[in-house]
Amino acid sequence: MDKKKNRAVFIDRDGTIIEDRGYLNDPEGVEFIEGSIPALKMLAQNGFKLVLVTNQSGISRNLVTHEQLNAIHDKLAGVLSLNGIRFDAMEYCPHGPEEDCLCRKPNIGMALSASKKADIDLCVSYCVGDKMSDVGLGKKFGGKGVLVLTGSGKNEKTGEAMPDYTAKNLYEAAKWIITDAAQKQRQKPA
Ligand SMILES: [Zn+2]
Repeated sequence: MDKKKNRAVFIDRDGTIIEDRGYLNDPEGVEFIEGSIPALKMLAQNGFKLVLVTNQSGISRNLVTHEQLNAIHDKLAGVLSLNGIRFDAMEYCPHGPEEDCLCRKPNIGMALSASKKADIDLCVSYCVGDKMSDVGLGKKFGGKGVLVLTGSGKNEKTGEAMPDYTAKNLYEAAKWIITDAAQKQRQKPA
């Protein structure tokens, strides 16, 4: 009875949806990567919940304030809203790597929080990003991890935790996720 209903795609922000400006602290610096808006739209149209998951250690480093971050996320949400898209949850980790928090990717704190908010079944969900910590998050929460080659994706070393798929950009990642999820559903016993 406690079974969660929705599948979701957890999506990284910098280098995946928008250009990675390095500790962005000004909404004017929000620049969408080509194909990312159509990708989000396609995922939503295919029944996926959309969750933003972003490590923002710039807050811990005093390079970005919570207010600036909120202004950036308002801008992001505003542009998406003009395109008929909304995030079901927008999560960020304000901590630095040395703070040992439960939310910094690849830890699953942000995924658990969003899972409660949007009734998400993590085992049938995906995480997409340009870092291996995004791939790691997807695997840690029991779903799949997709690496995109935008942002710093090209320089990531895959090592032990291989991505379930590597995509040129978020649009190609979205296409793969939709196909993969449809195959999984067909394979379910009746
Ligand atoms: Zn954290």
